[in-house]
Amino acid sequence: MRILLIAGHGEGDPGAGGNGYLEADLTREVVKLLQPKLAEICSVEIADTNRNWFEYLYKHSYNFKDYDYFLEVHFNSGGGTGSEIFVTTSERDTGVEAAIMRQLCAAAGYRNRGVKRTNFRVISRVKSQGVSSALLEVCFIDSAADMHTYTHKKNEIIDAIVNGIAEGFGLKRNAPARHWAAIAHDKIKERGYISADVWEAYDYDIPVQHALALLDNISGGRWASEEADESIHEAQPIVISLCGKGIINEPEQWISALKANENLSKAHTLALFDNMTGGMRPAYVNRDTDHWGRNCLDSLCDKGIIKTPHAWDDDFNAATTRALFMALVCAVLGI
Ligand SMILES: [Zn+2]
Repeated sequence: MRILLIAGHGEGDPGAGGNGYLEADLTREVVKLLQPKLAEICSVEIADTNRNWFEYLYKHSYNFKDYDYFLEVHFNSGGGTGSEIFVTTSERDTGVEAAIMRQLCAAAGYRNRGVKRTNFRVISRVKSQGVSSALLEVCFIDSAADMHTYTHKKNEIIDAIVNGIAEGFGLKRNAPARHWAAIAHDKIKERGYISADVWEAYDYDIPVQHALALLDNISGGRWASEEADESIHEAQPIVISLCGKGIINEPEQWISALKANENLSKAHTLALFDNMTGGMRPAYVNRDTDHWGRNCLDSLCDKGIIKTPHAWDDDFNAATTRALFMALVCAVLGI
């Protein structure tokens, strides 16, 4: 299902005016607001808004055949109130237009002036190519009451037009695709490695403390040590545990990062995971390169743990997002 939207007037033709508004501005606003919401139920394009299509089609032809439906937006004037929609006299079924009117008038409280038939130039040209077309007069630009409603209920009005099109064509909203990090999060949580909801803020940077706690959990759990001392920092025992397992080497550096409540850089994330998975591949040990993090990255790539290096090498000093960290956890666990 592919819809083309056209904003009425423009290219020097302001259309009607009233209450401080010009029709050409409002029609452009409406198609712009409609597009992202219609995109949830079908494919949608806005025809060039720099063009006055009424004038353009007087002299030119245009191929509308790639579309399944065409909606031209206008605002009415001349002393009335309410909404109406026009189709050409050759349109057989006006169920979609009736649905748009019903939804729009219910949401805005506009008078329903109904579905009418007039062979306006643009919708006629479109229909002559076999594509169903309609011209919507949202409300009266010269009615103070209509425009007050329009400005105060704009979102509801846009939603209602979309709902009408959805109802008329029987289109369903696509369920928003789940964030890949949400899937990673659930897998890690199901296995009991995380309980804190900090991990659900996928796009946020991960503090060292949470990162180390998760690493400790997935690498066999706490490694007992007499050196564990929560009075240094509540996460100090985690550092000692990771030291005992050989995943971190310089506990003092990590303790100071914890005390400063630092986020974990990408380079340090890579180093931790590289250590946890058998250490650096010999080819990269002491290799002279642009950043020491690249040696860890290439080592992890060689091991097949990282398959999208560009997620990591844009800036090794930048903090790691929770999403990226969890992606590595899943890769290491093979889940
Ligand atoms: Zn108009």
